[in-house]
Amino acid sequence: MSVQRNDISHTIALAGNPNAGKTTLFNQLTGARQHVGNYPGITVERKSGYLRVDDELIAVVDLPGTYSLTAYSAEELVARDFLVNERPAVVINIVDAANLERNLYLSVQLLELGAPLVIALNMIDVATSRGIKIDTEKLSEILGVPIIPIVARAGTGTDILMQAAIKVARNPPEWKPLTISYGDDLDGAIIELTRVIEEHEFLTDRYPAQFTAVKYLEQDEQILALGRDKNPDIARMLESVVENLAAHTHKTLDVYPEVIVADHRYGYLKSLLRGGIITHTAAPDRLYASDRIDKIATHRIGGPAIMLAVLYFLYQFTFSWSSMPVAWMGELFVWLGEMVDGAMADGPLKSLIISGVIDGVGGVLGFVPLIMFMFFGIALLEDSGYLARVAYMMDRIFRIFGLHGSSVMPFIVSGGIAGGCAVPGVMATRTLRSPKERMATLLTVPFMNCGAKIPVLALLIGAFFANHQALMMFGFTMLAWVVALVAAKFLRTTFLRGEPTPFVMELPPYRFPTTRGLLIHTWERTWQYIKKAGTVILAISILLWALMTYPHLPEEQQRYFAQQKASISQELSLLDPISKTDNHSLLAEELRRLDQEQSAQALRYSVAGRIGHGLESISSWAGFDWRTNIALLGGFVAKEVIVSTLGTAYSMGDTNPEAAASLSHRLTRSPSWNPVVAVAALIFIMFYAPCFVTVVCIARESSWRWAAFSMGFNTIFAFALAVAVYQLGMALGFG
Ligand code: GDP
Ligand code: MG
Repeated sequence: MSVQRNDISHTIALAGNPNAGKTTLFNQLTGARQHVGNYPGITVERKSGYLRVDDELIAVVDLPGTYSLTAYSAEELVARDFLVNERPAVVINIVDAANLERNLYLSVQLLELGAPLVIALNMIDVATSRGIKIDTEKLSEILGVPIIPIVARAGTGTDILMQAAIKVARNPPEWKPLTISYGDDLDGAIIELTRVIEEHEFLTDRYPAQFTAVKYLEQDEQILALGRDKNPDIARMLESVVENLAAHTHKTLDVYPEVIVADHRYGYLKSLLRGGIITHTAAPDRLYASDRIDKIATHRIGGPAIMLAVLYFLYQFTFSWSSMPVAWMGELFVWLGEMVDGAMADGPLKSLIISGVIDGVGGVLGFVPLIMFMFFGIALLEDSGYLARVAYMMDRIFRIFGLHGSSVMPFIVSGGIAGGCAVPGVMATRTLRSPKERMATLLTVPFMNCGAKIPVLALLIGAFFANHQALMMFGFTMLAWVVALVAAKFLRTTFLRGEPTPFVMELPPYRFPTTRGLLIHTWERTWQYIKKAGTVILAISILLWALMTYPHLPEEQQRYFAQQKASISQELSLLDPISKTDNHSLLAEELRRLDQEQSAQALRYSVAGRIGHGLESISSWAGFDWRTNIALLGGFVAKEVIVSTLGTAYSMGDTNPEAAASLSHRLTRSPSWNPVVAVAALIFIMFYAPCFVTVVCIARESSWRWAAFSMGFNTIFAFALAVAVYQLGMALGFG
């Protein structure tokens, strides 16, 4: 039969693994109306045929059997090229129901490519005889594509299949590529690559940007060559990103990105098929080691219990191992302060170095050992694959609160286990497809205890709850989750109301972490923390020091203090220096009090002091004094600044060398602080406006309106909580 090209209404491609039944289905559909030839230049057979549905002539192309869409073989290349160049109206993906997991590996890639898909679940007869039952409805809902069970050899279900395919062909949907998570390291790179690709419209006429990005990670020869050909500069840029990543994953995990890609795709499938999609009436033949561990580790009740125990142990480990080095670091900076104090003449420079730099940055750097232990613990959880299980278990809870399972990773990245950062967390929300669920996630991830909040938590917990550090840390972590989830629920029932969307979570296999990988991961993050302390935090510390120092007290007041001190010093010098009388120490005490009084007044007189004071009438509802207010204002820029500013503010009111002490001592001694204030302050700090960089990021990912909303909403919300805690705590007499 001869067919004119423009008689054809739609072209349908059949794609699937070898032996899935493509040819059988093809013959069923087209009967004798076939044409067999070769794809130009290669020996791969090209088979096309025709059939009529209603009044329309449909062309069907039997693609060569492939296991993937990466150009590892000529067959794969042909199949992929056909899809992107000819853009068939529908792709019927034939899947062997008896080997569902292996077969779906290709389906996931077709979805990543974004091709309009209908899945033909073939060999239902074989599956049934092996005791395998598949919940096609549920699977179809999760994958977002029609799934039709068929027996190609008998022709069962093929009519329904064609109906479904034609329906898609008549209303061709846009190519909407599926995004799956390839783990922390790779996702970051994919986001970066995708951005470059989209910006330069690099190969975007053929492939979705993200698909190209993943293919670069998979080192797909054809796409690499095509890229070099199209735009050598961009291609080189992309390749260097991949090279860096490959060097990194090779160093830390001893594998290259392409392996991680495959692992995660399988992990994705494994968990996709987990939630009761496949039921075996006969016992499954074998369980993999990972699956056996997961039987316990992700058990309905046992799993969460283990998870909580792991978390608690992590904090126990962090605090007990780091307490000594943290104390040493504290002493080191006190000693440094004393050295500078002795070596330099009084003046603004000395004040800048002691109060601005040493007390400010020192306060942040002092927590480096703690941060290091914490990061080590997290690297251990992450590299072993356990963190993915945590995400998997949290998914069940997340759904209750109107969030999506894909929200879990952004939460963890932002510091759900403590010590992350909301910036990559905000970016990680890109894996969420539903805009409302994404917004709700975006707005609540900053509630997690990021690395910058850890020193604040450690400082206040160490100062006021020294005997229960791990427990308090654990409690505040849980609180962050609870508050974030409740806030999300609130948003999802008010500003962001809408239906939930289905979710599948990737479960990569468990791996033994390598010592090298752990050390590198730990060091990378610790170094980032140190670098931030040495740059951004240093700059803000100096700025805040200036705000806390200028303007100076008026001349007459300075003169008054000078005279007072001079007269006491004179009296002191008249006393017999050998026999230390009561009078002697009384005078020394008076001198110290005057010193303190002067610097406290000077701080009060400064710009920052005035702002802090101005806010005191409101902040006192939550128990915050004006010095705390200054620190909290600094926290709008970066949360670490809270520790450094508290350090500066409290050292300025306390410059006497004899009184030199660590900040935590100063706070416990201060009349404005007590355990209730500490808890109220912690709650406020955990939940008020995200730091500046995060706000910018939220704005970029959504809009400035939402960014402003997040600042306002979080601050009001956090303050209300802090006031409630403070008032209740004081009323109950815990102060
Ligand atoms: P292709 O490699 O994808 O083209 O697969 P084929 O169409 O050549 O089929 C491979 C084998 O599976 C053949 O022996 C078919 O007879 C058999 N087969 C195809 N569909 C079915 C089915 O629905 N049930 C059973 N039991 N066998 C099938
Ligand atoms: Mg065949």
